[in-house]
Amino acid sequence: AKNAGGGRVAWFDPAMDRLAARDARLGADLRQAVARGELSLVYQPIVELPDGGLAGVEALVRWQHPEHGQVSPALFIPLAERNGTIIELGRWILEQVTAQAARWDRALGAHAPRRISVNISPRELHEPGFVAGVAALLARTGTDPARITAEITETAVLGTGPGLDAVRELHELGLPVALDDFGTGQSSLSLLVDCPVQVLKVDKSFVDGVTAGTAQAVIVDSLIAITTGLGIQAVAEGVETEAQARRLHQAGYRYAQGFHFFRPMTGDQVTSLLSPVALG
Ligand code: C2E
Ligand code: CA
Ligand code: CA
Ligand code: CA
Repeated sequence: AKNAGGGRVAWFDPAMDRLAARDARLGADLRQAVARGELSLVYQPIVELPDGGLAGVEALVRWQHPEHGQVSPALFIPLAERNGTIIELGRWILEQVTAQAARWDRALGAHAPRRISVNISPRELHEPGFVAGVAALLARTGTDPARITAEITETAVLGTGPGLDAVRELHELGLPVALDDFGTGQSSLSLLVDCPVQVLKVDKSFVDGVTAGTAQAVIVDSLIAITTGLGIQAVAEGVETEAQARRLHQAGYRYAQGFHFFRPMTGDQVTSLLSPVALG
């Protein structure tokens, strides 16, 4: 299937070819990004309804590329999964989170965030020794496992296998488990039975329609019945308006996250937000 002239593979769509080339370049850059100090973490508060008090934070990674500027994690995390960089990246992220937790403790004492969510990729869960690595890091840094919520997606634990085993081990280690983006993948309610889940993050796509009396609203309401019955905490994601926040609270939601409350911010900004002086 070779192109006689250029020696290129002829069944390659040129657009695909460019994408693959971009992926390869960006992937190579990503391998160096940690060492070059281009990565950082921001933290988005998860709030309690209806008052907006802080219930926890979710760590989100940022990449400041020297030429392309900010690259979205929605782009580079899947890339890191494909080229395997996610293993090193995930380790770095968890290390940063434990260091930040210690800084918050020193600066804020009893006001420091108690619950910090960290996104864990499917590839990490499938990596042999992943949970042992987490356990070692938490022990070395003196971090209480109960403080770190592991946010996982449905695709990571579909079916039985290493993904589900790893989640069970994380849970046994003492980490609360949150099922992220619930409702977007090949969701199955049986997952809530098979997998130890303490938190369900209801995807933004459902929250978007919650005030319109749409099918999304019915699902948002039903999920409260299900999670309450199972003793699972529900977090509504991507809340952008006061009307949505009110409607979710009426539906029984206690926790929410979204631009209506807070955008992701630096660790220092979280410190300012929570410092007793700022709270007056
Ligand atoms: P996610 O885990 O579902 O994270 C929530 C995303 O929604 C974040 O985007 C956040 O900034 C955004 N968001 C929060 N509230 C609102 C809102 O009200 N409106 C809108 N439009 N968006 C909102 P971000 O930081 O760009 O991350 C995108 C995805 O990249 C994450 O989705 C997660 O899947 C992945 N990701 C980000 N950081 C990490 C990380 O440290 N590790 C791993 N494995 N994945 C990460
Ligand atoms: Ca998440
Ligand atoms: Ca999510
Ligand atoms: Ca998402």
